[in-house]
Amino acid sequence: MNFRELGLEERLLEGIDAMGYETATPVQSQVIQPILAGKDIIASAQTGTGKTAAFLLPIVHKILTEQHAANHINALIIVPTRELAIQIAETMEGLGYFTDVSCIAVYGGGDGGSFIAEKKALSSGVDMVVCTPGRMIAHLNMGYVKMQQVKYLVLDEADRMLDMGFNDDIMKIISFLPKQRQNLLFSATMPQKMRELARKLLHQPVEINIAVSKPPEQIVQEAFVVYEPQKIPLIKYVLNTKEFTRVIIFCSKKQNVKQLTSDLKRAKFLAEEIHSDLLQDKREQVLQDFRNRKLRILVATDILSRGIDIEEIELVINYDVPNDGEDYIHRIGRTARAATKGNAITFISEAEQRKFAAIEDLLGKQVVKLPIPEQFGPTPEYAPKLHKGGGARRSGGGARPGGNARGGARPIHNKR
Ligand code: AMP
Repeated sequence: MNFRELGLEERLLEGIDAMGYETATPVQSQVIQPILAGKDIIASAQTGTGKTAAFLLPIVHKILTEQHAANHINALIIVPTRELAIQIAETMEGLGYFTDVSCIAVYGGGDGGSFIAEKKALSSGVDMVVCTPGRMIAHLNMGYVKMQQVKYLVLDEADRMLDMGFNDDIMKIISFLPKQRQNLLFSATMPQKMRELARKLLHQPVEINIAVSKPPEQIVQEAFVVYEPQKIPLIKYVLNTKEFTRVIIFCSKKQNVKQLTSDLKRAKFLAEEIHSDLLQDKREQVLQDFRNRKLRILVATDILSRGIDIEEIELVINYDVPNDGEDYIHRIGRTARAATKGNAITFISEAEQRKFAAIEDLLGKQVVKLPIPEQFGPTPEYAPKLHKGGGARRSGGGARPGGNARGGARPIHNKR
């Protein structure tokens, strides 16, 4: 489903476009409409599924299009950790960039300066607050937080909050909110205590379950952590290490498919490209040649990641990190079909580290990072927490003015 079909506000569509999101992820397709319709939601969805935008987009749409109180907090998002608070505020910074909706991340561990700045925002009113429970209570106890007009409450990673013992804190924060409000509860798992919390908080909720498939065990998953310009030389090196019979290389962008294919052909590899710019006849011819082993290497966009069934693909290379965990699983699932063994190697640039870490979260394990031969020079460290932004699709984001969510204390007032 595309975002326009969901009926989102034009300025939000611009933000979505700037973030590089093309189609809604399954959780987004399923929750955005009920949230727009004013329903309470209980959704089981893990990190990596696109759940953040799934709740941010409809809330911002409603703040933009429905009547709401100025100089008051309109939406409160409670999360377990400061990292998640920062991440959500950053996503909001990108998605809401063309809107006038303001947002602040409120979390513990900062200096006195950030507390004062948070106090200023919370008492003068900011549209959205993303907070950790303890820090919010510290502010609430001082009596200046403008909570009386909150219309939307989100509990994100609610299972983790309960595991961390935040139940009482959450209930205390909620006691400050008006009774009439929309409640959205997101949780990776649904243990019994979550059902109890849901029963207390939610009113006739719509229940959504995003089942995440796992890749087959027999796929050996590995990755190279590189600088972007090292990708093509290293791919050529990998392709030369062994006489692979069939290899698929996935790229998110057509442009990269074209560039890589032309580089590989110049280096005398039997490679062809496949993407939506090709006529259907040509696409079928390329696939036929690949099946018949006239071609060894297929370079493709994600159009090929779902559904095609070609046996004996030995190796899947991800030239870039796919946009979400499901795409990753679909891509690497092209190898190791019918219980054969397969290999999947992902190339992770610095800007993509965070996105890859979200996929690892979804997989529930770390993918082995392979050492890189010395001739390729120094490579970056794998430190996803240090890399701001959601990955390549957000690479334009660094130049954006406006709030710095990492600073925590600065509200993000986007331009009106
Ligand atoms: P989340 O599950 O919210 O942590 O999101 C995981 C990653 O997916 C983040 O890097 C998002 O920027 C990215 N993302 C979210 N929605 C989309 C979408 N519709 N298309 C592509 N990427 C997305």
